[in-house]
Amino acid sequence: MLMIKTGYYQSGLTGSHGRYWTPRYYTDSKLNRTIHSEINAILFADSDKLPGSTLYVTAPPCVRCAVQIIQCGIEKVVCYAPSPKMVERWGDQMALAQELFREAEVIYLEHAHE
Ligand SMILES: [Zn+2]
Repeated sequence: MLMIKTGYYQSGLTGSHGRYWTPRYYTDSKLNRTIHSEINAILFADSDKLPGSTLYVTAPPCVRCAVQIIQCGIEKVVCYAPSPKMVERWGDQMALAQELFREAEVIYLEHAHE
């Protein structure tokens, strides 16, 4: 197995005018105001190596990440099952992402926490 790239969740975005930090009080829109680990990994990976690869993440991807995972040709997504709190908060996002994976024939595997 070859590791192509790692990524991490980032609440601070670096734009052409420098660093922008998402204020903590945006809890409801945090999902859309941050860069997720999946996207961070894809952005800085060698794009030629992504088609056919497997993405390992700690939580189910959201819709924003799912479309980019599909577009860059990642073949399989492996993650831990979400906690009940995550399902309550982001369940709709995760369900739509998994629907997109099914439609695009991306293999999606969830593992229970030990
Ligand atoms: Zn995401």
